[in-house]
Formats: sequence, structure tokens, C-alpha cells
Amino acid sequence: MTESKVKILLIYTGGTIGMVKDFKTGVLKTFNFKNLLDKIPELQLLDCDIETVSFKNPIDSSNMHPKYWIQIAELIETNYEDFDGFVVLHGSDTMSYSASALSFMLENLAKPVVFTGAQLPIGDLRTDAKENLITSIQVASMQNKGKALVKEVCLYFEYKLYRGNRTTKLNAEHFQAFASFNYPDLAESGVHLKFNNKYLFKPNLEKRLKVNKNFDENIALIKLYPGITKTILQSILNTSNLKAVIIETYGAGNCSTENWFINLLKETILKGIHIINVTQCSGGSVMMGHYETSSNLKEIGVISGKDITTEAAVTKLMYLLGQNISANAFKIKYETSLRGELH
Ligand code: ASP
Repeated sequence: MTESKVKILLIYTGGTIGMVKDFKTGVLKTFNFKNLLDKIPELQLLDCDIETVSFKNPIDSSNMHPKYWIQIAELIETNYEDFDGFVVLHGSDTMSYSASALSFMLENLAKPVVFTGAQLPIGDLRTDAKENLITSIQVASMQNKGKALVKEVCLYFEYKLYRGNRTTKLNAEHFQAFASFNYPDLAESGVHLKFNNKYLFKPNLEKRLKVNKNFDENIALIKLYPGITKTILQSILNTSNLKAVIIETYGAGNCSTENWFINLLKETILKGIHIINVTQCSGGSVMMGHYETSSNLKEIGVISGKDITTEAAVTKLMYLLGQNISANAFKIKYETSLRGELH
């Protein structure tokens, strides 16, 4: 009896990986997926069956929107039983947001979903696309005793596999475009593909996949800077329909102790609007109460984003607001790790 091959679904959403240069203008535009696969005959050498599906109109990921996250999640949901792993080809600009969003949407995920892309188009002589794509497919195919080795949404780029909701795009030019400052790499690709097994997410395998598709986009993201005025802050916090605000504070979650500032946040929380504290530092964690400049925030009921990335903070917020839970449950859930997105 011949053993059946691992089956991988490749989902193309757009991004540089499949783009071509417009001859006249030199501008990079999304192109058709068929062309992408013709450019990588090496895919046939992989020991798995690959099927492909593409967005009807592939996008530059700067046009990413929750409606596309739902499209990706539905493609995974409808094909979940028929495939062993999923690779999502995506532009790098907003890949960390999408990988984070999908991690919250795909509850009890027990198969790999690997996001990847490239800094240079696949047809380019010096492209990084081939290695990224081929290794992502290998990661998605990895099995241990007939079960998927990776059971979470991750991101593969330039020889490293990261937990998706821990990543940030940190460089617009280098092939090493992503980093995960607050969580170790899940795997490194060299001569061998070496997994850090103890850092892989361990989902509850008793539970079935549940796909959460409700997002509430009535949120704001404010980055603090010295000199931010009351008028600016007030105008954002008074936005109609606003349900929650993420404030990117300094260092370990610190901010101004001026009365007008704290009072404004306090009034906002009393109106029922959630305020989340995340740090504008790339690494490290919010520790409210550690300095005098953050104790006020703790007292007025600001939610701690701990060591979450801004990308995961935004998507977790839209996801949790879509769950329609009480303010109390909201705070508890936000401060708890749901998919390994915070410590
Ligand atoms: N602008 C492109 C995108 O995000 C960049 C890339 O693919 O890396 O779609």
C-alpha cells in the first residue's frame, strides 16, 4: 500500500512575491498567480501534493482589511479537513497584522498556517521568494507520528520561523524583514531545519476548530510623543462609536502624569471605552505601577498589553470587541494569553 502524500494548500493573496514591474512606469503591481508557480519548478521536487488557490484580485498588502482576513480564514475553514497544512502568500507590509488576526480567528487550530512573502518578486534574479516559499511549504508539511508538528499560525521569512502574532516588520529593505523581540524563534533553517519544539504552541487537541469572524473596527491607536496636546487627544477620544483605544506609551508603559492627561483617560474609561497600554519599544513589557508615571494608569483601570506587539494588540482588540463580552471579561481576556501572543 502506498502512503498518501502530505497535502498543502497554497493561498495567494498578493504582495511583492508575485508582482511584476510595469515596463513604462517601473512601478511594482500585483500579477497573476499562475505566473508565480511557473517560475518555481522546484516545487515539483517537494514530497507533498500542493494545491493552489488565489484571491480573485490579488492585493498589495497595504490594502489589507478585516474583510480579507475573513476570506483567508474561510479558505482555511472550507479546506481544513482535506489538507495537512496551509501556506499563505502575503505582502510583507501588513503580514504581521494578518498573521496575528488569523491566530485569533482560528481557535483550536491543530494544523500549520504559515505566512510568507518576499522582498523581491519571484522573477527577480536575486529574489528571496524561492527560499521563503519552499521552506514554508516544508514547515507546513512537517509531521510527527502522522500529526502536524506545527499547530499554530506562524510566519516564515529569511531562514526563520516565528510565531505569527509575535512578529513585527522592522526593515523595508533587508531580506531579514521581520523580528520577534519578545518570543524565541520557532525554527531556524540552515543545512537542517531545526525546530525549537518547546516553544511551539500546544493547542487543546480535544476541541474542534472554531473560526471567529466578527471584528469590530471602532478602535484607535495613539502613539504618545512629548508635546501631544489635549485638543488632539480629546478629538480622538471623542470620536463617535469609539469602543477602545490602544495607547503606545513610553518604556515599560509610562506616560505623562499631568492632570489633564490622566483625567481625560479616566473620563474615557468611565464612558465604557477600553484603553489598552502597549509600549512603543520594540521589545520588553508594560509593567504598570513599576514607575510613578504608570501607577495612575493602573488605578483608573487601563488594560495592560504586557509584551504584546502593536500588530497583535490591534487585531486582538478588534477580535475581542467582536465577541460582545462584559467589560470585566474583556479586561481579563485581553490580559490573558489566548494564542501565545503575550506572556
Ligand atoms: N507592498 C508590498 C505588500 O505588502 C510589499 C511586500 O510584498 O513585501 O504587498
